[in-house]
Amino acid sequence: MKSPSLLKFLGLSVSAIVLASCQQTATNQANAAMPVKQFVSSKKAKNVILFIGDGMGVSTITAARIFDGQSKGMSGEDNQLSFETFPNVSLVKTYNLDSQVADSAGTASAMNTGFKTQIGKINVQPDALFAKCSDEAAAPPVLFADLAETAGMSTGIISTARITHATPAAVYGHAMSRGWESDRDMSEIGNERGCTDLATQMIEYGGTNGLEVALGGGRRNFIPKELEGGRRDDGKNLTTVWTGKSDNHIYASNVSELRAISAKDKQSVLGLFDASHMNYEADRSDDDQPSLTEMTSFAIENLAARDTGYYLMVEAGRIDHAHHGTNAYRALKDTQELSEAVAKAVEMTNPEDTLILVTADHSHVLSIAGYPGIGNPILGVVKPIDRETGKLSDEPLLASDGKPYTTLGYHNGPNTRTDDDDLSDNAVQGINFQQQTAIPMGSETHAGEDVPLYAYGPGAQKARGVIDQAEIFDIMVDAVGFEK
Ligand SMILES: [Zn+2]
Repeated sequence: MKSPSLLKFLGLSVSAIVLASCQQTATNQANAAMPVKQFVSSKKAKNVILFIGDGMGVSTITAARIFDGQSKGMSGEDNQLSFETFPNVSLVKTYNLDSQVADSAGTASAMNTGFKTQIGKINVQPDALFAKCSDEAAAPPVLFADLAETAGMSTGIISTARITHATPAAVYGHAMSRGWESDRDMSEIGNERGCTDLATQMIEYGGTNGLEVALGGGRRNFIPKELEGGRRDDGKNLTTVWTGKSDNHIYASNVSELRAISAKDKQSVLGLFDASHMNYEADRSDDDQPSLTEMTSFAIENLAARDTGYYLMVEAGRIDHAHHGTNAYRALKDTQELSEAVAKAVEMTNPEDTLILVTADHSHVLSIAGYPGIGNPILGVVKPIDRETGKLSDEPLLASDGKPYTTLGYHNGPNTRTDDDDLSDNAVQGINFQQQTAIPMGSETHAGEDVPLYAYGPGAQKARGVIDQAEIFDIMVDAVGFEK
């Protein structure tokens, strides 16, 4: 059978395309998320929730929008993710001080301190890399969480990655290397200078009144290697250091222990649900681990019950990991789950007093390309609209090598296109398919273009134009009304 050529596809009559897309639009609008109301509040924010999709660049958001729509039986293109209904949007420059293409440590530092750092470094400046280490007098930049705690607000962190990973660590920690997750990971120079690992910093943060909620993965960095799954060399069990802080400090080592806690009892909750990163949403079951939405809901209920105002950072940490393996399915599923978590946060809070920000730390080299027809499965091979039937063709378009190609692909990564690749519909839309790449690399890389920032609530109107990532700190500071 002969495949429709690209030329034939491009020769498609405009009226056929318009008709097809109009029909889709009519069906889709009924299903689209309800837009939130546009308003400008003169009030200050009592609460700030910062959602970070790790690696969630614009192409990831567009693909996830279509993926989400198609999972609800829509064509997908004009679907909206929850945060796409927010009234304020900005483009954000993500570069690190020494790197055109950023990593999560430098980018999360910018958001939490208002200062950019070098790649791989957490909340330290180039001239004071050992700030917060015992023999160093230099003061590190003040954290947004510091300002919040000083003002009597409560603070929380959530991540589907290890809670000592770069993005959550930047809420509470300072480190010359993002790799210093447990004492075993410390470099010689770090030990010589009396620096501490990020797990210890998290537990010690703020003394008895530090973080009120910390939920995520990374249990291994908190327990000694003598215990199963532990990896600390110093023999310390930091989960018992946490519960020893006060009668109100409690530890959940699994999902049933979390569900046994009443969120509104205002206990300070450490929940570590995996030895390392938590499961991808695509691989998770409710019996096994809480979803990002469940953790978000728990944290908001706990923090709001205190009536102190709060700063909550929520990271969908594994969008990034799936992209590094050019596994778009898992990246899109985790992005869809982030959208659910944001919807839950909108539902549980009042836009008169809660600023909700949704952004990414950096992008990835995912691209959406070719000329797939409207409604073509986003994970599928590119198939055009058949001009005779007005429906998607059964036959894929072919590249110059005579083979089909997928709509989603990566500029670099571990799965370069070969003659042996199975490009059947079943294969490419499967959960484990790794999209093809142009440049062979062991791990796909981050990308350097701007990422979006979506904002809703008091102070959201400052999310406009093209801004530097460090200005996200200013937006949060101004929203709450802190003196800088
Ligand atoms: Zn990454």
